[in-house]
Amino acid sequence: MPTSRSGSLDTVMQEARRFPPPDDFARRARIGSLEAYEQLWNRAAQDVEGFWGELAKELHWFKPFSKVLEWNEPFAQWFVGGQTNVSYNCLDRHLAPSADPPRADKPAIVWEGEPGDTRVLTYRQLHREVCQFANVLRSLGIRAGDVVSIYMPMTPELPIAMLACARIGAIHSVIFGGFSSEAIADRNNDARARLVITADGGWRRSGKLPLKANVDAALEKSPTVEKCIVLRRVGNDIAMRPGRDFWWHELMANASPDCPAEPLDSEHPLFILYTSGSTGKPKGIKHTSAGYNLFVKKTTEWVFDLREEDIFWCTADCGWVTGHSYVVYGPLTAGATVFMYEGAPNWPQEDRLWQLIEKYRVSIFYTAPTAIRAAIKWGDRWIDSHDLSSLRLLGTVGEGINPEAWMWYHRKVGHERCPIVDTWWQTETGGIMMSPLPGAIATKPGSCTKPLPGVVPAIVDEHGHPVEAGRGGWLVITRPWPGMLRGIWGDDARYQEQYWSKSRHNYLAGDNARCDADGYYWIMGRIDDVLNVSGHRLSTIEIESALVSHPRVAEAAAVGRPDEVKGEAVAVFVTVKNGEPDDALRQELKRHVRKEIGALAQPDDIRFTSALPKTRSGKIMRRLLRDIAAGKETVGDTTTLEDYSVLAKLREQEE
Ligand code: ATP
Ligand code: MG
Repeated sequence: MPTSRSGSLDTVMQEARRFPPPDDFARRARIGSLEAYEQLWNRAAQDVEGFWGELAKELHWFKPFSKVLEWNEPFAQWFVGGQTNVSYNCLDRHLAPSADPPRADKPAIVWEGEPGDTRVLTYRQLHREVCQFANVLRSLGIRAGDVVSIYMPMTPELPIAMLACARIGAIHSVIFGGFSSEAIADRNNDARARLVITADGGWRRSGKLPLKANVDAALEKSPTVEKCIVLRRVGNDIAMRPGRDFWWHELMANASPDCPAEPLDSEHPLFILYTSGSTGKPKGIKHTSAGYNLFVKKTTEWVFDLREEDIFWCTADCGWVTGHSYVVYGPLTAGATVFMYEGAPNWPQEDRLWQLIEKYRVSIFYTAPTAIRAAIKWGDRWIDSHDLSSLRLLGTVGEGINPEAWMWYHRKVGHERCPIVDTWWQTETGGIMMSPLPGAIATKPGSCTKPLPGVVPAIVDEHGHPVEAGRGGWLVITRPWPGMLRGIWGDDARYQEQYWSKSRHNYLAGDNARCDADGYYWIMGRIDDVLNVSGHRLSTIEIESALVSHPRVAEAAAVGRPDEVKGEAVAVFVTVKNGEPDDALRQELKRHVRKEIGALAQPDDIRFTSALPKTRSGKIMRRLLRDIAAGKETVGDTTTLEDYSVLAKLREQEE
């Protein structure tokens, strides 16, 4: 293995498997060959503005834009002077008599609640509900530019609330339903929200999430919030404060369904969304209207190779950016049928996801590696009994997927028939930045493959210089793109400092990556998580993937621990699929990693645990594990931690 040069990362992973797009898939695909992809990508890279300017014709414009991009680094304005409306693009465009194809009676949302209740909303019906609810918002005094917090279960009313905000220019801030009242209050206050939309509760493993009670506690500490709308979902006993709290159904009963979409400036803010907090305190990421809308439409069409008859299921909650971009805005602008599910994946038992795919004939399934690893741990018998023949495409998002988990997804869910799109992107990027195009780009397990058209990445060292081919370094994006964040809410200085100060003229993503000889990108983990072992800088994902390739390992997290001799020692936390782990397994895993990727990466400490600390969106929080491995108290922000007892258990092992 070569020794590390300053700033770049060593790579130890060797993954040689390659899966070309199936012929019949490629034949029908929108972009059906590598040449077609390359042509499109090159055209976009040569003339970024001309490329997006041309595509922008696919949106509805109340007033045409005069300029594609005004770039005043690091502040971008896209489609300057134009006026559009995101809710119009998601709904009205499909209803027009001239719409081709006509979609008024096509299901827009097919939904199943956790108890098994179901609903279907066509584009016409969804449009009607959104218009009514937009009038409800107006009746409570909400106007363009006001911030509305949304804290709801995954029912159709959640996208309805988002689209109604968009219709009148109110800025939504969706807060994931698993967050505590403190987190709600923090977000209300940071964004200066005027209204909160919530529900009495939500179903989770047949229990009732106390959503309204959490909001009540938050509103004690949210001085800017004047009113609260409450959806009745679970029928539990809640307090309604007269003059402040209103029932959704009562307001809707009197609301007119006539509400023309408000023409809004291209750069009118659409939403604020707080990041998941894997690395620290969440930031309020700001996205605006036209550029974001175009970017999510095109990336949905390209990456998911959308067809008119698809049933598209992105399992993300609308509380995360994935839910914004690929449950709501991308698929609806593209005219797709979206499937939505309210509850837990293992309720009433561990086959719920597969049962839903079978029942609703889902054709595209987009989920997170954490869900895949959980399904692997639950065991194949849950999946083997289901007919998954409706599936034609699979996707992953949110974390790197370990090659062995990828292979399981490929075999067990995709039956070796469905391409897998491993999509790399961030809350900040608005939409997918790197991903295979399923009809054009051969996949390699663990790689997000290539940048989408209009996206120009590079890998640089700490001085901003390109690293040698094949070596790891900082992933940066060298050109503005329409879906990019427009800032951190209320904090331009932090925006500038965090994303634009470390690599001149480039957007710093905060992840490490390498690009192989075929031009494929491999995300190596977060910049902050790099391990420095005897002068070699190693990435987390590679060590973790080596562990996950052992048949008994379900999940693994690797972190560095201070070591006098090596600088850092490799500490790993491992959950096993079944059985009690023992010292023999510990020794075996050390040998396994040594054999797979080399002596340098061999773990010094292996700790077995029944669960890893994760964010509420399911991402491993390595920064907390680093403290535990070093025997330190956790000092960082833990508000986004999913389950505090996991940390406590890990600490107990210490003693
Ligand atoms: P915070 O920024 O507050 O720490 P976060 O980064 O977890 O939170 P998100 O914007 O939801 O918040 O996550 C984006 C990050 O998720 C990426 O920067 C990357 O680290 C990881 N990620 C997303 N998709 C992939 C992927 N396909 N492969 C590898 N990593 C991914
Ligand atoms: Mg981040």
